[in-house]
Amino acid sequence: MRYVSTRGDAPELGFSDVLLAGLASDGGLYVPEHWPTLEQPAEARTYAERAVEVMLPFVEPDIDEATLTKLCNDAYATFRHPAVVPLVQIDHRQWVLELFHGPTLAFKDVALQLVGRMFDHILAQRGERVTIVGATSGDTGSAAINAVAGCEHIDIVILYPLGRTSDVQRRQMTTVDQPNAHAVAVDGTFDDCQDLVKAMFNDADFRCRNNLSAVNSINWARVMAQVVYYVTASETFAEPVTFSVPTGNFGNVLAGWIAREMGAPIRDFIVASNTNDILTRFINDGEMTAREVVPTFSPSMDIQVSSNFERLLFEMNGRDGGMTAEQLMRFRSSGRLAVEPDQRAAYVTGHFRAAAFDDEATLAEIARVHGATGMLLDPHSATGTAAAAQFGSVEPNTIISLATADPAKFPDAVEQATGVRVGLPEHLADLFELEERTETVSNDLSTVEALVERLVQP
Ligand SMILES: *Cc1c(COP(=O)(O)O)cnc(C)c1O
Repeated sequence: MRYVSTRGDAPELGFSDVLLAGLASDGGLYVPEHWPTLEQPAEARTYAERAVEVMLPFVEPDIDEATLTKLCNDAYATFRHPAVVPLVQIDHRQWVLELFHGPTLAFKDVALQLVGRMFDHILAQRGERVTIVGATSGDTGSAAINAVAGCEHIDIVILYPLGRTSDVQRRQMTTVDQPNAHAVAVDGTFDDCQDLVKAMFNDADFRCRNNLSAVNSINWARVMAQVVYYVTASETFAEPVTFSVPTGNFGNVLAGWIAREMGAPIRDFIVASNTNDILTRFINDGEMTAREVVPTFSPSMDIQVSSNFERLLFEMNGRDGGMTAEQLMRFRSSGRLAVEPDQRAAYVTGHFRAAAFDDEATLAEIARVHGATGMLLDPHSATGTAAAAQFGSVEPNTIISLATADPAKFPDAVEQATGVRVGLPEHLADLFELEERTETVSNDLSTVEALVERLVQP
């Protein structure tokens, strides 16, 4: 498979180069030059086996079938449920797909456990070493650190905003006892952390000297790994299903859209948001206008510019990279992006629906589902089931809502909604006894760069 940039002005690359590059050199995102067609599943099989069938066309010839099989088996053996991503019924035609049984209790593990292993495999093959730097508001950083801790060919440095992550999220980063894994507290906000990471990438000398790499949500391999659970979940049902997806950067919805392009039996998508509802407004009104980010109980969805939307926009533009680049440039300068009525008819109407829920409605939904079924949902997942309930009440279709985090990761909101205090699962029971290893730095580029160089092993 070859990959092209959504902005049409970067070299075509194979899978390994796309994995390591993250962003394309023209600022665009890499997408496969065509969408492969799904093969029927061979027999009753495991999640990891189906994952190999779904992803092989995307990674060949760079990664062969035997290697991909080993990487998938290892990645999904870290999950605490034999089904990896179990489906649980909550109403007549309402299901929840639990994506949070990985090591750090959020759905980011599904992709990052595999992507970390792919990085290590390719770097070993090439005899290279990289430094992954990233910024996190909580979930991505812990999932990334856990995915590459102990990898021989990778150092990872994650910047998080001092005092602004939950205790569980911070400890999942700071208690990992591996010499290649480093969590650094920045005296600033998440946006400051992200700006520092961007500045490190823009510092060409620093970037080359330390062989910087990224595993943020625009990395193609993360989207690819998420396609798999849409395929396996939809194949469980006799009729095409609807997915309801709690959304921030749009990566998860995009993965579902790709699964359907490949032939998975999916009818349509419900895009669920919190108060940061830019995508709801786009889907319902055809126009995208960015506003200030409002903090909510679902922090991983507190996003106003959904970076992975660019990949869908590229498709809407008939894969015209120049047109996509121009549209995004106008969006950046004017804060407004509108699509043509015919694009809307072809790509939005009948394919995506959307609904947004504020914190109060989210807590009410956690309480409703708990009262009806006994199941506890985290605030991100609750926006998904709330949207599914809203649309599902007027149609007979099967709806699968994605549960993106374990309720134990957001115990305060869950307790406020239900009165129930959730404890951590067994493998994290000692999280609050383990020693924390972290450094605190000021929000200053040269200080952070000096620290990164000191932390990274020679
Ligand atoms: C990252 C995250 C999301 C949003 O996923 P996107 O791919 O950015 O749309 C939703 N819920 C949780 C718990 C997350 O960690």
